[in-house]
Amino acid sequence: GQCVLVCPTGALGERDETERALDYICDPDLTTVVQFAPAVRVAFGEEFGMPAGTNVEGQIIAACRKIGVDVVLDTNFAADVVIMEEGTELLGRLKRGQRPTFTSCCPAWINFAEIHYPDILPLLSSTKSPQQVLSTMAKTYLPEKMGIAPEKVRVISIMPCTAKKDEAVRPQLVHDGLPETDVVLTTREFARLLRREGIDLKDLEPSTFDNPLMSEYSGAGAIFGTTGGVMEAAVRTIYAVVNGHELEQIDLTQLRGFEGARSATVDLGGQIGEVKVAMVHGLGDTRAIVEAVRAGEADFDFIEVMACPGGCVDGGGSLRSKRAYLPLAMARRKTIYDVDRTARVRQSHNNEQVKTLYRDFLEAPNSRKAHDLLHTHYTDRRREMEHTVKEIWDDITMST
Ligand code: SF4
Repeated sequence: GQCVLVCPTGALGERDETERALDYICDPDLTTVVQFAPAVRVAFGEEFGMPAGTNVEGQIIAACRKIGVDVVLDTNFAADVVIMEEGTELLGRLKRGQRPTFTSCCPAWINFAEIHYPDILPLLSSTKSPQQVLSTMAKTYLPEKMGIAPEKVRVISIMPCTAKKDEAVRPQLVHDGLPETDVVLTTREFARLLRREGIDLKDLEPSTFDNPLMSEYSGAGAIFGTTGGVMEAAVRTIYAVVNGHELEQIDLTQLRGFEGARSATVDLGGQIGEVKVAMVHGLGDTRAIVEAVRAGEADFDFIEVMACPGGCVDGGGSLRSKRAYLPLAMARRKTIYDVDRTARVRQSHNNEQVKTLYRDFLEAPNSRKAHDLLHTHYTDRRREMEHTVKEIWDDITMST
């Protein structure tokens, strides 16, 4: 990092995550990388009094540069990579008649499945979330191409939820004590950090990404931030892979909406034909569909799950409307779909930087190298929870 700040010296007592992020940024020995999620850019402006749904991507980039971040990358790029990996994985499972497959990019959903329904873990896609894909590439691909030492890279991610903090410290995603993602800041925390540094987002001239490796994204990557987005992005790419040409109608409006559980039939053509898909958001609807799958009463090939009602556009780390999530989430979602509609490239497989990543580094989607780096596994954590509950119970009974 190139320090352009007065580093806080622990004056606030307990060190919080923003201080750790600043410590990394201020350390001249380290290369700090920041990534921010698809939903963050449409919710962050509200922290500085801008209208809901204002796209502040350019101001976030400018703010990162102002505080001395070395490399600003985009989680949207990693969303495109997730589609390449998850889409290929899904195709293989469809060909083998394995159904359904659940998405794996929401860590709150992963926790929920591991703790409450471990028997369904084999149905979850093994592809890491966009946050972890980006972090992994930032510590392997980026150093190789930029000629920097991987152990000097620190990844700070700005995310819409606290579940991403929990994800960053999953034992599967920490190697020899070194996490893939070093610090996760929620949108709220990042706003606090900027305010403490005297930066008002409204005063910043929007900037643009300049990293040639991992900052370009397609419209498909952008819509990951809303319920139905991962499904739509996946269908666009799988259709093209199966048929050798693009979908004629890129906007899959039948997959969009705000109902807690939605389903649709999509014709993927070729050998695959029609598939049944479902999209659920909010844990109530998630529980219902999981119960139906376990009871053999749900007939789906691919199920997208987002723990937050509305998806990441109303994640728990951003400002939320007190009474109803809809007004803020709707405005943010509208901007996300506008970004997609006006994007030059709208399918993950057409992202030039994604093509380069596979050509120069990963070889192919689901290759051995891609598997080693971009896939993970899940564990039955029911007993861990029972243990925690027992400890809490023992504490209560001992102290009374
Ligand atoms: Fe985080 Fe909510 Fe998005 Fe899940 S749906 S990744 S919990 S913001």
